[in-house]
Amino acid sequence: MSEIKKGGISVESEHIFPIIKKWLYSEKDIFLREIVSNASDAVTKLRRLESLGEIRDIGSDFKITVTVDKTAGTLTVSDNGIGMTEEELERYICQIALSGALEFINKYEDESTSAQNGIIGHFGLGFYSSFMVSDSVEVVTKSYTDAPAVHWVSTEDGQYEISAGERDGRGTDVIMHISESESEYLEISKIRSMLDKYCAFMPVEIYLVDADTYEQAADGEEKEAPKPVNDTTPLWQKNPSDCTEEEYNEFYKKVFNDYRDPLFYIHINADYPLNFKGILFFPKLNNQFEPLEGQVKLFYNQVFVADNIKEVIPEHLLMLRGVLDCPELPLNVSRSYLQNNTYITKVSAHISKKTADKLNSLCINEREKYEKLWGDLKTFVEYACMRDKKFYDRVKASLLLKMTDGKFETVDGYLEGAKEKHEGTVYYATDASLQSQYISMFESQGIKVALLDKVIDTQFVTMLEQYTPDTKYVRIDADVASALKGEGDVQKNEELEKLFKAASGNEELKVEFENLLDESVPALINVSEQSRRMEEMMKMYAMTGDAPDMSFPVEMSIVLNMANPLTKKIADTAATDQEKAQKLARQVFYLALMSQRPLTAVEMKAFLEDSFKILENI
Ligand code: ADP
Repeated sequence: MSEIKKGGISVESEHIFPIIKKWLYSEKDIFLREIVSNASDAVTKLRRLESLGEIRDIGSDFKITVTVDKTAGTLTVSDNGIGMTEEELERYICQIALSGALEFINKYEDESTSAQNGIIGHFGLGFYSSFMVSDSVEVVTKSYTDAPAVHWVSTEDGQYEISAGERDGRGTDVIMHISESESEYLEISKIRSMLDKYCAFMPVEIYLVDADTYEQAADGEEKEAPKPVNDTTPLWQKNPSDCTEEEYNEFYKKVFNDYRDPLFYIHINADYPLNFKGILFFPKLNNQFEPLEGQVKLFYNQVFVADNIKEVIPEHLLMLRGVLDCPELPLNVSRSYLQNNTYITKVSAHISKKTADKLNSLCINEREKYEKLWGDLKTFVEYACMRDKKFYDRVKASLLLKMTDGKFETVDGYLEGAKEKHEGTVYYATDASLQSQYISMFESQGIKVALLDKVIDTQFVTMLEQYTPDTKYVRIDADVASALKGEGDVQKNEELEKLFKAASGNEELKVEFENLLDESVPALINVSEQSRRMEEMMKMYAMTGDAPDMSFPVEMSIVLNMANPLTKKIADTAATDQEKAQKLARQVFYLALMSQRPLTAVEMKAFLEDSFKILENI
């Protein structure tokens, strides 16, 4: 080809380059993904021809080179793929790609300006997306056939020229002359981070070259063998049985920049009709207040599409991290479209099911490991159960209760354990040290106590009671369990009742009498389960962070243990020395209060004053 061919881009597209330039300004970086994906496709096409037997001996050294040349002001993507003949170049780049780009812009321009986030992934702008950052673009390409190399260059205002090109072997170079205003795309670190984000798992090796340092090094110094910036066979593409735990952990840490191993992972390889692959990870949280927000990266045949497509991950599992490769996913769709898409709904349901299966299998087959993980998993699982009844139904047999002695039980295991004593009730503590008095009372009678000390627990327990109405959850300071009571009737003692009402300063205080099996405890404060939960809910809603301004919750009562010597002594003393009896009652009242909740400032002051006086008289 000796003469230069000129071509114009049809009338309505006259201004296409400037339009592209301003388009998608917020997501300009995707141009590199588009150009590198084309290069990767070009290699894939060549490989396919070889596998079909249409060509032979093409070697195996396939690669893509991204070269940053700051001095020349160019960014070049080269591949040794299928290449294009002049005719193909005209057809694919000048006609098809251009009309595709035009169609794309017409279709999505409104959405991008009105909603900014209308479309996911922004696929389809293709080759012409290079104009978002370039003043002009050149293509030098040589087909794998005998056809000669061709050179294409864009000129101002949507014109292009095609002439004979020069290229050693087959393949294509796309040379982008970066605009002055976009000079960041001549920074090697910027290009590296873009390749890391969009091209980290593309199926052809990608090498990044800094033209300046490359030439210097070529002048003498020993050069290290260059390494590709990507991983061409990402873990999710492998067969789960060929992957090791170390590989999963490494993959997770690298992709999510976490220094900790994940708690566990789920490798999904869904066949037809869902046809997607992925690995989901349960991350380790620092504390229960960390936002339950994960990060799932969506890929399309190993090309990064977008982060955190909430529509794909079931809402109740949003804290998962992972990668999903969905070649079936319709690209360039809006989020609202995804929300009502049946394919997505099925993917989402599949993920939920796989997650539940994994939890169940850990619980059954790797119980020890599961118990170790439970502290970290618990909040996730409980949250997910509260959001999705189906998920709860799937995992209910794998929900664990941690006992105050550090052991774990399933709810059923717990209830079965001491059937006659538990009476279908799970007794729990929310603070092992504050409630130690109650805990030891329960334990001394052979009743195990579950520790539910997380913020989410009260809501979770309320939900469990709705789903399994035969099982009650009662905090150990709510009621005196019948298994703690001794035999025989207990007489109400009016004198003691009067003394304790006076001691509390609350005439409404309910005073109860019991013969407790544990004789060491003179008195206990009980707060009804329902009113305490209400109070906790109110506190949570109010979010004031302040302790409630009430020393006596409405449904508080004091239980006097008539089997205890001190209680008996107070009753006896009352007959002879009212003042002394009153002092004793007050002290016992405060001690009981203290083992139920922290004293308020006023109570603490009174308690200390009383205590010092008592000590003075000893
Ligand atoms: P798409 O990749 O979605 O088809 P593009 O605008 O990115 O759209 O590219 C248009 C066409 O140009 C491609 O389908 C391909 O035939 C051709 N092409 C682009 N880049 C290359 C390349 N590096 N090697 C060979 N052909 C290419």
